[in-house]
Amino acid sequence: MIIRKKFKFEGAHIVRDCSSDRCKKSLHGHSYVVEVFLTSTKLDFGQMVYDFGLTKGTIRDVVDSFDHAYAMWNKEKPDFKTFIKSNSDRYVEMPLSPSAECFALTFLFVIDKILKATTFNNGEGEVSVKSVRVHETDTGYAEAFQEDLQWFDYNLTDIVFSDAIKIEWKDPEMYEKLISYHSNNGGDKPFINPIVATKYS
Ligand SMILES: [Zn+2]
Repeated sequence: MIIRKKFKFEGAHIVRDCSSDRCKKSLHGHSYVVEVFLTSTKLDFGQMVYDFGLTKGTIRDVVDSFDHAYAMWNKEKPDFKTFIKSNSDRYVEMPLSPSAECFALTFLFVIDKILKATTFNNGEGEVSVKSVRVHETDTGYAEAFQEDLQWFDYNLTDIVFSDAIKIEWKDPEMYEKLISYHSNNGGDKPFINPIVATKYS
């Protein structure tokens, strides 16, 4: 079984080395739609894969990080990166070019790490990300699956959020906690879902 949660953000990028001149030479923006598809090994006590309300914390904060932000490939020229950092508060440095494909890979990678770092408290099974779709326009989207992550050697530390983004998160230390949990190979999970007082299960 699969459930789908939709998010939106208004983001800016440049996709270097693509075929379209407009896309690769000029900073521009899109109204992005992100669809996160989750699956699980069983239903929770509410007989859901994963309560949609639980995606409104850390997961939503990660997607919202890209709203009114510049998604910057870390292979941009140093003087350009310095200009952005000096003149634009909200930016995210990414190890991959900010194409729809790589946005989808990035969200899939990070959201799956968040779920693995979350203590579930309502009888959920092993909840995981089946895929992520990122719509860059009304007519085109890219969809990333777990097996696509093997194309890149991806690390959480390769994604850098600006301070202006982090300060708006419910927990500004959220990403540091996520990195710490996964680099230590275990320990206490940093994200804890609310305990539910079940009456029927
Ligand atoms: Zn574009």
